[in-house]
Amino acid sequence: MPQADNTLKVIKPGRLIDGVHDSAMEGTAVAIQGKSIKWVGPVSQAEGLDSGGAARETLEFPGATLLAGLFDIHTHTNMPGDGRTGEEVNEGENDQQRLLRSAVNATAAVASGVTTMCDCGSWNRNGFALKEGLAMGVVEGPRVLVSGPPLTVTGGHLYYMGGEADGIDAVRSMTRSLIKQGADFIKIAASGGSTSTSDPYRASYSVPELTAIVEEAHNRGRSVLAHCRCTDAINSALDAGVDAILHCSFYDNDGTYRWDQKTADRLAESGTWLNPTMGLGRANRERLERLKSERGLTPDEEERLERSTASGARSLDQFSTLVKAGVRLVGGSDCGWSYYPFGDFQGEVLSLHEAGLSPIEAIRAGTLSPATALGIQDSIGTVEPGKEADLLVVNGDPSQDLAQLRDVAAVFKGGARVATNKERAALG
Ligand SMILES: [Zn+2]
Repeated sequence: MPQADNTLKVIKPGRLIDGVHDSAMEGTAVAIQGKSIKWVGPVSQAEGLDSGGAARETLEFPGATLLAGLFDIHTHTNMPGDGRTGEEVNEGENDQQRLLRSAVNATAAVASGVTTMCDCGSWNRNGFALKEGLAMGVVEGPRVLVSGPPLTVTGGHLYYMGGEADGIDAVRSMTRSLIKQGADFIKIAASGGSTSTSDPYRASYSVPELTAIVEEAHNRGRSVLAHCRCTDAINSALDAGVDAILHCSFYDNDGTYRWDQKTADRLAESGTWLNPTMGLGRANRERLERLKSERGLTPDEEERLERSTASGARSLDQFSTLVKAGVRLVGGSDCGWSYYPFGDFQGEVLSLHEAGLSPIEAIRAGTLSPATALGIQDSIGTVEPGKEADLLVVNGDPSQDLAQLRDVAAVFKGGARVATNKERAALG
């Protein structure tokens, strides 16, 4: 497991996207020492930096861009991303097997440039155990913030993860228990979802229940992320004052998609973070298109591709309009779920760009914004002195061509260099 040493490392990239300024800057260098960013300034002054007696090293990336490490606000490390449903993983595997997968997924994430991620729902103690493994140094991965099992009503979405609680007293008690076990934030299934005993088009919790959860979480400095797949649930979550709404799709109780201007206005006014999870559908479609050209699709796959294409277009339309209305988007892949394996959070960042964010804004939605939503923007999310040295170097210029985010040249977490996927592949 690589550890940060005290060497002063001067990184000279072709350009820097620091997350503070609105454009990429040339002629800027970044110095890191120990676990943090020590200095950001003109390349010409870099040689004069005092290493405090420690060794120094210069790292040149002339054609590349340096930016803050990516932050994926929405992942499920227990899940395989191979199309199996949560229920299948619940029945077919045990916690030990799922925890091993979390370790593998965490490594895939950091090797792809994600230096922080939220696990938005894993079974029982698995999320907490993953964090313990990372802290012990037996697992290589990003910084991981965990919710533990999502709070859900009896039979609600993800109930099998272990977070069922009904009624104000029970949800308060469950929230306190999760915080006691080590939850960094609280995840609520505020509507149903793919879980067969739940209904994605119905709000699950009452507003007083949601409010009790938010009160308990905020009282302990934890943010609340709410899964909402229908308009009713979005409005309940807004009433309760959650910090981020995941999915945030405008469906009526009968499953009909309907743009809702009143809800859109509320979302924009509230400043609540919205995570569209458009990258998930995109990953599904890319996979089916690939299969189509390789071997042709079965009728069932053909139908799924059609459905996904239609819902993807609706989603893109909804979020493009919301962006114009002034909502705040935050990047979260939902990877592990469906056919979205770990290692391409960039797909979600690209979909935010499609919805109308400029490349620099989309990068911010995948770095600083998640950090702000989780209340840790003072330590990560931008390239500024004093922050953790969580850095990503990509070839080319993502401020011109955002897809360059996928061409990873180097990753640093807490000042230590992490092997990229390319470097791992070269080792065999
Ligand atoms: Zn999710």
